[in-house]
Amino acid sequence: MPSSQPPPSTNASPPPDYKTIASQFAAAKRIKEAEDKKKKKAQASSTVHNPESTEQKLQQLQQKHQEEEITAREQRHGRLEVARKRTYQSRWAWTASFWVWLLCVHAVGIAYFTSGFLLTRLVLEEKSACDAPPTATDPLLLLPAWEGRGTVDGGCWHPRMFERAVVVVIDALRYDFTVPVEDNAAFHNAFPFMWETAVRDPGKAFLRPFIADPPTSTLQRLKGLTTGTLPTFVDLGSSFSGTAIEEDNLLMQLRDAGKRIVHLGDDTWEALFPGYFEGNLSRAYDSFNVWDLHTVDNGVMEHIFPLMSRKSEWDLLIGHCLGVDHAGHRYGPDHPEMTKKLRQMDSFIRDLAATMDDKTVLVVMGDHGMDSKGDHGGESDDEVEAALWMYSPKGIFGRTKPEYVTPPATAKIRPVNQIDLVPTLALLMGIPIPFNNLGRPIEEAFAGAAGTSWANLVAAERVTAAGIKRYQTAYFTARGIEDSTGPGSPGELWDKAEDLVPQGKKQDWPVIFRAFAAYQEATLQKCKSLWARFDLKNMAIGISVMALGVIVLLVYVSRGDDDDVIEDEELDLAEKSLELQGVKADVEATPSDTLDKRLVGAALLGALPGFIGGVVSSLVSGAGDWYRGSGIAALTSTAAVLVSMHEVQETVLSIVPRTLWGWMAVVFTVSQSVGFASNSYTIWEDSILLFFITTFGFVSALAALRIPSRADRYLAIYHSVVFILLGRLASFSKLCREEQMPYCTSTYYASATSSTSAPWQLLIPFLVCIILPSILKAYLQPSRSYEGLAPTWIGYVFRTGLLMSALYWLLDAADNGNWIPGLPDKTIKNISVYTAQMVLGLALVAGTTAFIWAPPCVSIVTSASPTDSTKAQVAILGYGNAHGARYLLLPLNLLAACILLSKPMGAGALGLMAWQILALLEILDLNNLAATSSPIGPVMLAVLGTFHFFKTGHQAVLSSIQWDAAFIPLFTIRYPYSPLIVTLNTFAGQILATAAVPLLVLWKASPKKRGLLDAVSRRALAGFVAYFAVECLATMAWAGYLRRHLMLYRVFGPRFMTAAVVLLVVDIVGILVALAGVRCNTMAIGEVFGWAE
Ligand SMILES: [Zn+2]
Repeated sequence: MPSSQPPPSTNASPPPDYKTIASQFAAAKRIKEAEDKKKKKAQASSTVHNPESTEQKLQQLQQKHQEEEITAREQRHGRLEVARKRTYQSRWAWTASFWVWLLCVHAVGIAYFTSGFLLTRLVLEEKSACDAPPTATDPLLLLPAWEGRGTVDGGCWHPRMFERAVVVVIDALRYDFTVPVEDNAAFHNAFPFMWETAVRDPGKAFLRPFIADPPTSTLQRLKGLTTGTLPTFVDLGSSFSGTAIEEDNLLMQLRDAGKRIVHLGDDTWEALFPGYFEGNLSRAYDSFNVWDLHTVDNGVMEHIFPLMSRKSEWDLLIGHCLGVDHAGHRYGPDHPEMTKKLRQMDSFIRDLAATMDDKTVLVVMGDHGMDSKGDHGGESDDEVEAALWMYSPKGIFGRTKPEYVTPPATAKIRPVNQIDLVPTLALLMGIPIPFNNLGRPIEEAFAGAAGTSWANLVAAERVTAAGIKRYQTAYFTARGIEDSTGPGSPGELWDKAEDLVPQGKKQDWPVIFRAFAAYQEATLQKCKSLWARFDLKNMAIGISVMALGVIVLLVYVSRGDDDDVIEDEELDLAEKSLELQGVKADVEATPSDTLDKRLVGAALLGALPGFIGGVVSSLVSGAGDWYRGSGIAALTSTAAVLVSMHEVQETVLSIVPRTLWGWMAVVFTVSQSVGFASNSYTIWEDSILLFFITTFGFVSALAALRIPSRADRYLAIYHSVVFILLGRLASFSKLCREEQMPYCTSTYYASATSSTSAPWQLLIPFLVCIILPSILKAYLQPSRSYEGLAPTWIGYVFRTGLLMSALYWLLDAADNGNWIPGLPDKTIKNISVYTAQMVLGLALVAGTTAFIWAPPCVSIVTSASPTDSTKAQVAILGYGNAHGARYLLLPLNLLAACILLSKPMGAGALGLMAWQILALLEILDLNNLAATSSPIGPVMLAVLGTFHFFKTGHQAVLSSIQWDAAFIPLFTIRYPYSPLIVTLNTFAGQILATAAVPLLVLWKASPKKRGLLDAVSRRALAGFVAYFAVECLATMAWAGYLRRHLMLYRVFGPRFMTAAVVLLVVDIVGILVALAGVRCNTMAIGEVFGWAE
């Protein structure tokens, strides 16, 4: 079947729906039956020739009898078809139930492991009080008594310096944006005001690097910036709902002291501090609308200046600008919009500083930085390095060394921890330091204008350290931890520092200062390691559940091929005739007692003990222990399934591969899994996947030499070469992670410091639109299945969708680059959003409807027989690939949606992926590697999916999530659409691969092929999901084993999180798209051609 074969000449136009085809098919059958009968009659009359009238009567009677028999037969046949349909539906339901059960097992395993793996910190309820400073001995040892001591107005624990504070958060303000850098980057030298002031007026201002504790999301940062403690990874999940802070914090202290707080900007503050802010003065704005660069900033600027002339109405004013962050997400740092934004912030802060008075301190800071393409969330240097600038015309800031006056040139020099702002601001404003604080006062704020107020600085340092000591003691008591007193321990450092204090008046201040600082640092380290304490028991349970799930899958996938797919023409015919004689007509066609049904039964039974145990233990303990119950239920349930599999002789032994291809599948999967133990392997995963793809292509080209038919041999080699070349071509699309530098060049966007596409990249979607539909046609034509709905759908609808998404990206670029000046604001954005919505509507809504109702991609041609012109010849075009060609429409619909959502470069990669999948199907078919006999097909499809995850601009790090994709078809964040869109963007590769899994079985499958559902579920889908389950288990095991590794949160943790989410996504898409699609497809084919099983 060479692809160059000309299209079959059809004189019948494609029928509009399957009913037409069905009736045509039935009509053709009737014609044939009638002809047969005529032939028989003619034979009978020629052999027995008797002119007697009684004979004639008898013949008439016989004929009548025959006709009656035919009607009865047809009725019986109809009943049989109904019974078969019902059997199929019930089998499908049991198969789907099995997969739902497996999804639950995976979810429980992942949840259990995660709960033991992530950092946990006990939140203490205690609050600091103004009149109860933490210092055990007299706090006045270092400072003389000050007026109003022990009151907020005089200063609770330290003399108060400012009555009011203005805190401006410029989201994602990276440190290098604020200092002079000798280059022409769009993000450098555009915000010089803060640096200039610090140099010109060191007494009035200072600028320092401000290091965030990961995860670098705004919600987590605001928690750290107000409580002074470290974030825990557990909190990350709540990043989108935003929960109120319960523990002691700066705002709570101010509110309790009767101070008034006003907030403008990012509404995350409202979520964290509900009811804290002066309602009539505060203004909150949506924080997730990353497409919008100006609304929040303009709102802050509009409302902040009037408040500056009414300073008596507030005590703390918070302004949170989001424009810089959003410019980073939308364009990347290296874009003219970023320059504009930074210039705007420069003049904003310049104007704001001009309105300050001696009683007010101004703090400007970034809550985190951004990576080279403008995103954040992880812990790379660029993401954690923000800037801090403090300003007051009062001129109280000082440096202990003259060289400290010039702000550090890079963020590596003299950085300040973000939590250090908490004690600094608390002491400057006279309020108590929040109870859980672990930060230390910033030197410049307490050293005095001349840099010589050592007593003041040491007093601030000591009272903060005492607070930390108090917190540490309380925490240890609450958790029942022994405090160590060995050399270098925090306890010993504290005693040493306290011993120095009494002699302090006469001598070495810096020594005492450093002693307390050493204590603070040691405690911070101690707390970090304490909170990174892992719950090994939960981790072990999670890994066990996952491992059992993997074993179940492997046994399920590898059972012997006894009664699987039988395609025996003889048997089929014999059965048909028996059936027509009504022998089997009234018994059920096939037993519905399938393996899946048994397994689901075992799973439910097995889950009972755990479920009951969970309920009982939660009743006994009263603590609602559903969590443990689910873990036990998952374990007992998987065990029961394994036992039940053993009963039907599905031993673990049968999972050992027997062919080269089988071994290759195992090696690809296992070497990946072992590789996750090494950080360089994990970092370079995309290159390794390309190597696998190339290897498979070479081996299949070599294997093709054994194919007996010459045409098939060349064809197999051709498809193998295409498979390799497309992989190589796709590998030009790259998005590098920080660890790959400098050996990697990002090509996904216009430049490494951008998140917009280069103009030439806009051509890619147009190329996809021109080429891809023709490629699809070329793969369908050899099997004559470019029939039915296929020409309309692929040639027109699908192509229109691709054209519109190409136009979308052109419009988007025109909007970003302001190509058409003078247009009213948002005109292009409006047009492009509606274009995108139309593409998605076409692909997902119209596409699904069309898929459900589409006729098979076949057409029936009736022509005169070449031998006998009185006889009609019926040919069905596309019969041999009836299942595959029709099912292909479903992944194509998803493909059209993903191409729109994946940006121009990603569109190219996904187009290549679709082509590669078709080449893979041909390779498997020509080499006789059907999913029923070899696991290599499903594994290669999984490798392709993962490979294209990287090729669509992603990496296994948080910051590579393309949040801005949510705004392709929408103006603002909307649930549940926005998360769904981001999921489609992020996992486009794996989702498409999952949707294509049934093709491994259905491709080149004729309507009469039996056991297709079984083959899809047990062979293709099980093998495919097994790859991801093994990957998830492996990353889990390695992350658990390497939990103390330096790279845990940078490499291993994110990789585990990616694998876990991918597994769940693949499970869900497998059920909702692949299995549901197969059901729908089989029903449509069964309606037309009759049921095969
Ligand atoms: Zn952001």
